[in-house]
Amino acid sequence: MSPTLTCYGGVGEIGGNKFLLEDRGVKVLLDFGTGFADGADYFDGNISPRAVNGAGDLFEFGLLPEIPGLYSEKALQNTDLRYGDPEVDAIVLSHYHSDHTGRISYTDPKIPVYCGETTSLIHEAYSDSRSSPLDDHEIRRFRTGGRFRVGPMEFVPVHVDHSIPGAYGFVVHMSGGTLAYTGDFRFHGRAGEMTFDFIEEAGREKPDTLLTEGTRVGQGDAKSRMSERAVLEEARRLVGGAKALVFSSFRGNDVDRVNTFFEACESAGRRLVVSMKIAIILEKLTADPRLKVPKVGKDIDVYVKRKKSGRIDDSDYFKWERQFLNRGVTAADVRKGQRDYFLHLESWDFPELIDIEPDRGGTYIHSATEAYNEEGEKEEAVIKNWVHHIGFRYAQLHASGHAPEGEVFTLVDRVGSGKVVPIHTEHPDAFVPTSRRRGRKVEIPAKGVPIEIGA
Ligand SMILES: [Zn+2]
Repeated sequence: MSPTLTCYGGVGEIGGNKFLLEDRGVKVLLDFGTGFADGADYFDGNISPRAVNGAGDLFEFGLLPEIPGLYSEKALQNTDLRYGDPEVDAIVLSHYHSDHTGRISYTDPKIPVYCGETTSLIHEAYSDSRSSPLDDHEIRRFRTGGRFRVGPMEFVPVHVDHSIPGAYGFVVHMSGGTLAYTGDFRFHGRAGEMTFDFIEEAGREKPDTLLTEGTRVGQGDAKSRMSERAVLEEARRLVGGAKALVFSSFRGNDVDRVNTFFEACESAGRRLVVSMKIAIILEKLTADPRLKVPKVGKDIDVYVKRKKSGRIDDSDYFKWERQFLNRGVTAADVRKGQRDYFLHLESWDFPELIDIEPDRGGTYIHSATEAYNEEGEKEEAVIKNWVHHIGFRYAQLHASGHAPEGEVFTLVDRVGSGKVVPIHTEHPDAFVPTSRRRGRKVEIPAKGVPIEIGA
């Protein structure tokens, strides 16, 4: 029997990647993430799946596939699926975003997780400070240039550029066929050349099937075509011209973005101040010699929020937070030096602004994707209300983690596989016209239906 690929997530949706590879009885999952809209019809801010019911509340709505030999004993305790020895041999992870990792916490910890070295450091930072879906699993690390085998399958990991460091695509040699998987990618980040390395490597291995993301395919999103370099230039202009406090919310594990704002601060003579949750990730990533990461305490500062007693006292803070207390920046410090700081503030920390009492005329930089649904618009409206309340200007400044349509099609062309399986996209059909012109077959995946790999 020829090897197969079965898509259980990332089908007609952005995120939620869950792909099962089967070859001669050996099973490997490529990513096992949470969909962005997973269960939004049944679960929202008020109604959540009960942790005590393990995977049961998610099985009810088909939000997790009922694959035997995949889940932990705890996840299955109240379900019809019986717990037994693992039948899935490995989980191979492309990068540490929740739409690729989020559901690993339900899986049997006896199943090893293969991930890049940088991803394992990010996992450790989350594990030390909160929790990580990879907790309790054995972690097996790989890097570009290496290869690893799981049964008859040989994996060739190749780095790609994405909005989190340590992102990979893979070439998988199976018995009788070769599959290439892009993970999530772009060319317009600080390390865009890494995605070209993937194209070259994948093209050389002559895959039969290409499993490619298409987040921005068919979206007509011309307005958000900014590169990370363009974000830096605009950030330099905004920060350089600011006459009062500057603050921003952005994803702290996007080290490219941290560097962008750090460099904008350097040119403007300001100090970047990040939350403890970001600081612990950055400190961990300084161990990665291939990454450029600003040094916490030297290059950038850490913001210390008041908790419980309101005093900055060890007993109020988690153990991992205490290391930052005597070298931190408080609301009072920011109030005194509003022109000296660029503050990273997640929206849930906006009440800190009440303590900071910022002078009017400052700048807020919204450094995330613009709202694309009703829920997002509501959140954005609340953020704008805060910004308006303190008399700041609102600036939108972001570069996507994903390649625009034309660049995705270029990758597909240059990898040159006979078959393309579009995933991580709401518009898989949009791949059809250009591929057909090039004599390439597009196989639109259906959830749970195996696709044969090989000629
Ligand atoms: Zn993704």
